[in-house]
Amino acid sequence: MTRRQALERAGELLTRHKIEDAALEAEVFLAHVLKITRTQLLTEPDVELKKRQEDTFKTFVKRRIKGEPNAYITGHREFYGLDFLVDKRVLIPRPETEMLVEQAILRAKTFQNPIIADVGTGSGAIAVSLAKSLPQAEIYAVDISKAALKAAGRNSLQHGVQEKVKFVQGDLLEPVPVSVDIIVANLPYVITDDVPKVNTAGFEPGQALDGGPDGLDVIKRLCQQAKDKLNGNGCLLLETGMGQSQAVAKLLRELFPLSKIEIINDLSGIERVVCATLPAK
Ligand code: GLN
Repeated sequence: MTRRQALERAGELLTRHKIEDAALEAEVFLAHVLKITRTQLLTEPDVELKKRQEDTFKTFVKRRIKGEPNAYITGHREFYGLDFLVDKRVLIPRPETEMLVEQAILRAKTFQNPIIADVGTGSGAIAVSLAKSLPQAEIYAVDISKAALKAAGRNSLQHGVQEKVKFVQGDLLEPVPVSVDIIVANLPYVITDDVPKVNTAGFEPGQALDGGPDGLDVIKRLCQQAKDKLNGNGCLLLETGMGQSQAVAKLLRELFPLSKIEIINDLSGIERVVCATLPAK
């Protein structure tokens, strides 16, 4: 079977099973199996596949049909222009979270040697992206899940920032030993009843998505803890779900009455990031 034939068959199969972007998904799988780029794959479509390559590709497509996310099958996901290793221990980084990283970088640049905490680091995508973009920063990456911290540690090694990111296990800011200039967090914020809708086939860790009855349980606790851990001029940057930003902004106004609160939309127009900037102390 040639590359082109394999792609056509897989594309049809995935489409039949209602997988969106079926052609793209098939290309990603085949490029991964052949260890080449998608561009190389598409410029040389008539090369014959070896039996082993064909078998692995078919297994990938079968797993995808059963609902396993593409990123867990290939073990990779691109985020903020970097390649991250992902598996079922961690949530798959989402494109909308790149905005949180952008905002954190903008604000961190106002400090000479910013101290940053990435709370609920998961795969480490945020902490590692920040470390790559902010060579002067000292970064703490926290997660309650030891398994997630192992995955994040692997990503920091992969990107050579293991000296700059300190991984600490515990509840939100509790294990961070110092007060910080920037807190950045993509915490679980999905309403408990909606978790099955987001985690359709149950592959992602529920703990990383479930934000309690109104989705804000964990975010609220972090905001409380931030009162003791955020420096003057510091920023608390939170990713929020659709329809949550006003409630989060209200809470921040109550906890930090002198702070400047901003809400930033993502590319789909959803109010995605809420930011509180403290006055100088
Ligand atoms: N943005 C994710 C989703 O709805 C949720 C991530 C989270 O809870 N932090 O798919």
